[in-house]
Amino acid sequence: MSILIKNISTLETVSNGRLKDIDIYIEDNVIKEIGKKLSYKADINIDAHDRVVLPGFINTHHHFYQTFTRNLPKAQNAELFEWLKVHYRVWQYLEYEDIYYSGLTAISELMLTGVTTSTDHLYLYNGGAKKGWIEAEIEAAKKLGMRFYPTRGSMSLSKKDGGLPPDSVVQTEDEIMQHSEAIVNKYHDISPFAMTRISLAPCSPFSVTGKLMKETSEYADKHDLLIHTHLAETKDEESFCIEKFGKRPYYYLKDLGWVNDRAWYAHSIHLNDDEINDMAKNGVGVSHCPSSNMRLGSGIARIPEMLEKNMKVSIAVDGSASNDTSDYLGEMRQALLLARVKYGASAMKTSDVFEMATMGGARILHWDKEIGSIEVGKAADITIWNLNDISYIGAQSDPVAALIFAGRKHQVEYSIINGRVVVDKGELVNIQSEELIKKGMELSNELWKRAGV
Ligand SMILES: [Zn+2]
Repeated sequence: MSILIKNISTLETVSNGRLKDIDIYIEDNVIKEIGKKLSYKADINIDAHDRVVLPGFINTHHHFYQTFTRNLPKAQNAELFEWLKVHYRVWQYLEYEDIYYSGLTAISELMLTGVTTSTDHLYLYNGGAKKGWIEAEIEAAKKLGMRFYPTRGSMSLSKKDGGLPPDSVVQTEDEIMQHSEAIVNKYHDISPFAMTRISLAPCSPFSVTGKLMKETSEYADKHDLLIHTHLAETKDEESFCIEKFGKRPYYYLKDLGWVNDRAWYAHSIHLNDDEINDMAKNGVGVSHCPSSNMRLGSGIARIPEMLEKNMKVSIAVDGSASNDTSDYLGEMRQALLLARVKYGASAMKTSDVFEMATMGGARILHWDKEIGSIEVGKAADITIWNLNDISYIGAQSDPVAALIFAGRKHQVEYSIINGRVVVDKGELVNIQSEELIKKGMELSNELWKRAGV
């Protein structure tokens, strides 16, 4: 299979600047050549005249299952802990089919808004009674053609042991470690252009035991796996850690082996100077989730300061019950604007935002040699954007920045992942959108009914 993208008006490579009037030739799943007036005979030809071409975005934090509990009235105005308590009561009724279809929903939305690689943080297994949940989302990603790096999430500290979640949604440390090992053995593919890799992700200091955090980091160390968790999201979490462990969240995790360059944390808002310096020194990554942080009133992460220290920072939409969309391009706009609220208008530029959305994520996932920019020899993960829309009139003096500053649809015209066209003329290729909408609405209605919402 080969693809020739011809007559690209503006190509933002991210790694090597911006090119004008250029072609890209793709063979199988790899970018073979970038140049003027290429004359290959390709299986698929795409005319990108008047279009912007970008490397696919990399979303480093999400909870796909939450797409079925967006916007629940009881949690619309709550801060994190209260918001979680409302949602745990509903999530304990999730079934296998919900996981699969909410996965399809989230991945579809991510794909349409420019993402070509995503992680997911699935930490609910409802007491271990339900099987095959992470497998269900891997199937969903395969069906749609997304490059996927799910994390085997977990919770082991329930209310009766001083944690936040109810007993019904946690598992024992042994169950978690055994299942993690099985999933890693089955799916973790270390080949360069793998479509599925696995990392391990105990949920947070207030829902996981210290024992599990430590065992997870040791296991990951032994098997060279990445580790992920929520950290320093709220002041409540900070108070919880100081009260229960006598330490701030960051040092609590550090003592459990969680400060190294295979670790990345979602949010990372409430960190002091020492903690940020220590993270920078040790190569810890950050998933910045501006919409969720605003939505839950959690605070403003110190992203410009982290970028100054050359930390690995990426942008992520977070779960769809606290965003409540998976609009990735929209999230990039939020990242630009939120930084400016705290630090002023020159603190965050569109180039910073594109860097975080692509190479930032690739560095966190230790995948920067293969994805994150448009270069010969890298994976063919490419999106094409059409700015011929009312909302871009007058913004075309800088077509790349226009995607962040202007626009309302936030939707790709084409997406190519691993050399396959997965969005064609604005439509998902591997699923019927109408059928997904019907099924997703039905299943989420049923979930709420079971949960008595
Ligand atoms: Zn999250």
